[in-house]
Amino acid sequence: MIVILKKGATESQIQAVKDLARDLGLHTENLSQGEDRIVLGIVGNTLSINENTFRTIEVVENVMRVMTPYKLASREMKKENSVVKVDGVKFGTENIVLIAGPCSVESKEQIIESAHAIKESGAQVLRGSIFKPRTSPYEFQGMGLEGLRLLDAAREQTGLPIETEVMDPRQVSQVEESVDMLRVGARNMQNYDLLRQVGKSEKPVILKRGLCATVKEFLLAAEYIMQEGNQNVILCERGIRTFSTDTRFTLDLNVVPLLKGLTHLPIIVDPSHGTGIRELITPMSRAAVACGADGLLIEVHPNPKAAKSDAQQQLTYDHFRQLVVDVEPIAGALGRSLGAKRQTHKSRQKH
Ligand code: PEP
Ligand code: MN
Repeated sequence: MIVILKKGATESQIQAVKDLARDLGLHTENLSQGEDRIVLGIVGNTLSINENTFRTIEVVENVMRVMTPYKLASREMKKENSVVKVDGVKFGTENIVLIAGPCSVESKEQIIESAHAIKESGAQVLRGSIFKPRTSPYEFQGMGLEGLRLLDAAREQTGLPIETEVMDPRQVSQVEESVDMLRVGARNMQNYDLLRQVGKSEKPVILKRGLCATVKEFLLAAEYIMQEGNQNVILCERGIRTFSTDTRFTLDLNVVPLLKGLTHLPIIVDPSHGTGIRELITPMSRAAVACGADGLLIEVHPNPKAAKSDAQQQLTYDHFRQLVVDVEPIAGALGRSLGAKRQTHKSRQKH
């Protein structure tokens, strides 16, 4: 339910509405608190509650039901785009955020060198998985918490915010102090205990679309996180399973403009996992930006062929640098910027 309060509502009047919601077993989120309008989102089991219950409070101007199954994530609930802040980096503005780094953290040299290289090319967030959801139990499972210290060292040296995947609710408390963002991978999009746990965290969450998830399931997964209190969710399209086996997955760019209409949350695209083929990553990055993505997530490795995971799709430093050069004009044509300012050759030599 959306509750719109009259202009000039005082703190105690706002509190009275929240208290009523709480007494009814519902949860309130401040959706917007401008000079003109204060809008509260009231969620929970609202089906049996009559809107007039809220209308009896003097300060309430209007009450509207949100008809979509997802509430907090829905555009009906919040008209303006949400901006998710990670240190100084903002997702959901005219700047298209570049997240880059290796699939897996493998060694100190690998992650630190990668961090410098991607920063030079304009990346704003360093990615690196320490817990790996591998199809086979015999494949590299990630460095675990030892890798977290290496990510931390890379942030220390470059100042880049860091993100990593959590696969299990217990991993959230192990990593959340050290990272700037949490990532829920495609295979865990419907791991509800994990969603609830990251929902309790203060750290922004990248939520990747499940391999076979519909848009409704995707947004309801975001809703699990948001209804626990964490509104800082970034959706990530990373390809879905289709009949086509020519690419690793089918990057479903349809959902970018579709989601823009359905939700206020930022949407980023991962063409690395979405294609699984190195040569397709730049063209599909351009396409993702053209259809409105708020960010790109790209896997970059010092020596892709020797990577312990996803060797087919990781880019060299030079390839990534060229990708940024090639995608930038598409962002520019839409009045947007891509990544941070690229460093000059001179400043690069300092390392
Ligand atoms: C990843 O980003 O490292 C990853 C495993 O991707 P996904 O969950 O989309 O497969
Ligand atoms: Mn990967």
